[in-house]
Amino acid sequence: MKSQKNNPFSNLKYEIDKAGRRIGLDLSTIKKLSTSERIINFKISHKAKSFKGYRVQHNSSRGPYKGGFRFHPVVNLDEVKALAGWMTLKCALVNIPFGGAKGGLAIDTKKLSANDLEKITRALTRKIAKFIGPETDIPAPDVGTDSQIMAWMMDEYSKFAGHNEFGVVTAKPIELGGIVGREEATGLGGKYVLDEFIKKKRLKKKNNTIAVQGFGNVGAHMAELACHNYKIIALSDSSGAIYNPKGVNLNKARAQKEKRGSLLGLKGTKNISNEDLLELKTDILIPAALENQINENNADKIKAKTILELANGPTTPEADKILNEKGIIIVPDILANAGGVVVSYFEWLQNKTGRVWKEAEVNKELKKIMENAFNQTWKEAQKTKLTLREAAYNLSLKRVAEAMKLRGM
Ligand code: NAD
Repeated sequence: MKSQKNNPFSNLKYEIDKAGRRIGLDLSTIKKLSTSERIINFKISHKAKSFKGYRVQHNSSRGPYKGGFRFHPVVNLDEVKALAGWMTLKCALVNIPFGGAKGGLAIDTKKLSANDLEKITRALTRKIAKFIGPETDIPAPDVGTDSQIMAWMMDEYSKFAGHNEFGVVTAKPIELGGIVGREEATGLGGKYVLDEFIKKKRLKKKNNTIAVQGFGNVGAHMAELACHNYKIIALSDSSGAIYNPKGVNLNKARAQKEKRGSLLGLKGTKNISNEDLLELKTDILIPAALENQINENNADKIKAKTILELANGPTTPEADKILNEKGIIIVPDILANAGGVVVSYFEWLQNKTGRVWKEAEVNKELKKIMENAFNQTWKEAQKTKLTLREAAYNLSLKRVAEAMKLRGM
């Protein structure tokens, strides 16, 4: 099977096919793993405009579907199908009892008032209400969505259910059953994985420089958490990138982003392009924005020694091959960015049992799960002489395929 360039779903199917054959799965299982169990297509009409939306439920063999909702102008079905599949693999890799799903709405939230955003979110929730629920499919935020949007979804779903149903979404505000630490969980999980990787390579954190692409929920938290041990030399958002080889001040970066909506022009840094950031001489490159950022056009120019994928699908298979040949180590997305869904799992447990988790407990359990998943993946890679991505796919696909087999699916 060949992947179609820059089509995330085709890239996912290509990886599943390769890994499935490697671990000896039969062709019908590989086909099932490459197919979404349900696709919900819908349209939201608002003030004479209409927006296309999707909820894709990829696989539920290991538990209820779980995955974020993305609001972005160029969301499309193949992207959402890929994101749903990656959720199945991610949940299996960190061994939490969820399947995979994802949602998307093709909309530019920057052009909307809070009131319009609320009305659109509520309309979307009504469209998918009969397909979601704490035991069936549990949305969460992704690019362009946040805890406020989760609060509206939960409230609208509760009207449909006829009672409060806090557990229908995760990453809610704390006041509505949300868990402490969920907002920074993807960044923190990524940092636990990075620390473990540095330990394995017997490197010193302080000597390592990091460039982060994307200063949203994931990228900003990662940079803020990592800046105490590592040196953050570059940051970017959709308007461009900033660079200081001596280190960027994260407090000032956050303050400026909140005030002006952009990082550009931050005192003590130089403006560079997003392309330049990816090609910087740095020890660690962290893509934390969108898919296909590292592709066959720039892979050859990447100078980082390690890539920690916090975005989903930031590296195309063509680029992956080039980077591997260059000896650049990639810590793959389904491992590196799993911290968010792990803490979402704790939130779901909190809502089910009514026992409120403390921050120290959240972080301790998250650390345990992330380090364990990293070490299992590392061991598999060493044993099989495969890359970390291939090792991660081996482990996760085996777990999903085994669950399917046991259930007779
Ligand atoms: P977000 O909307 O909070 O932030 C995205 C950031 O990327 C923004 O700062 C935006 O300006 C920037 N961006 C967009 N295009 C860019 C470009 N070409 N160059 C540089 N920056 C660009 O979204 P997020 O929740 O931080 O998600 C980021 C990535 O992490 C996505 O791939 C998402 O699927 C993945 N992810 C998110 C979570 C989570 O818990 N939110 C969990 C796992 C994975």
